[in-house]
Amino acid sequence: MKQKESAWHYIPQRVFFEEEALAYPLGQKLVALCRDLGLPTRQIPSHNRVTGLPGDTPSQKYVQAKKTLVVGVKRDLRFPTCRPSADYQFPLMTSCPGHCEYCYLQTTLGQRPYLRVYVNVEEMLDQAATYIAKKAPEPTTFEVASSGDPLSVEHLTGSLFKTIEFFGDQEFGRLRFVTKFTGVEPLLKARHKGHTRFRFSLNSERVLRDFEHRTPPVAERIAAAAQVARAGYPLGFIIAPIMVYPGWEDDYLRLFDQLKKELASLQPLSPPVTFELIQHRFTARAKKVILERFPESRLDMDEEKRKFKYGKYGMGKYVYPDETARSMKDLLQTALLERFPDAEVEYFT
Ligand code: SF4
Repeated sequence: MKQKESAWHYIPQRVFFEEEALAYPLGQKLVALCRDLGLPTRQIPSHNRVTGLPGDTPSQKYVQAKKTLVVGVKRDLRFPTCRPSADYQFPLMTSCPGHCEYCYLQTTLGQRPYLRVYVNVEEMLDQAATYIAKKAPEPTTFEVASSGDPLSVEHLTGSLFKTIEFFGDQEFGRLRFVTKFTGVEPLLKARHKGHTRFRFSLNSERVLRDFEHRTPPVAERIAAAAQVARAGYPLGFIIAPIMVYPGWEDDYLRLFDQLKKELASLQPLSPPVTFELIQHRFTARAKKVILERFPESRLDMDEEKRKFKYGKYGMGKYVYPDETARSMKDLLQTALLERFPDAEVEYFT
């Protein structure tokens, strides 16, 4: 299989395989792909233990990890909960080729920022079917982007297409995912039957420029969103992480104007377009990891200017003070509903 090159078409520099993964058709397909592309490969005992990647400093190791694809078998088929966006996570893969400084995966993936795809997709889908059956006729929603960006590797695996078609056949199952990537073409023909909501992550030009390295520009994300809306997918946008800096209000309103203009010919969408609004937050651990990987980072992580919000197990995170968060929510929600009167703003957090 020859891969079409494009600016956002991820091709790893090395690929590691768990031995067991080679017994699955997707594992074999990826072996053949590596052979075709001349990519170096190696067998590893576990997709959780990848050692010997090049790089001396944390930032060099991070860059090299992102150039590494690991192919494994997902053994734990218990899907964690995924509030507020869905009932359960459906982790087809982990990580992505992007280098967003604020990414929460900096900590949740810890020492495993490499890209990892699972080959036992059918087993995962069978398990999803049992979760759906337990709750039927109530719908059960799965989030496929909770641990990475599945669209960023779709040209390699085809797993998202398969998953979307599976959910198309599920009367009571719904799928959703969020992406910053734009390679939507292979998914336009999938029989989704409106059961998958495609969401794109957007942010102000300044946040993109300063913090979302190696990800497609806003205009390309919006163009891809229009393509999937034309293919009949329910559409949504996640505005995140919303950051406060001099002029932030105008920047976000400009983004919403751009979105309105680009989607004008598709309005009103049915079902209505959704928005999820997430303010920037960080934990003490995230700050440490981010500053190791991005020593020059300009991310505002000044604890003095934030409110500490206690979380589970005594862990907590720094969010904007209540007054700032409230004005952020009011301004953005009002601005969105002015421009998209039929939209549903699902939550602000
Ligand atoms: Fe994280 Fe998404 Fe950026 Fe990838 S594209 S680094 S998953 S925020």
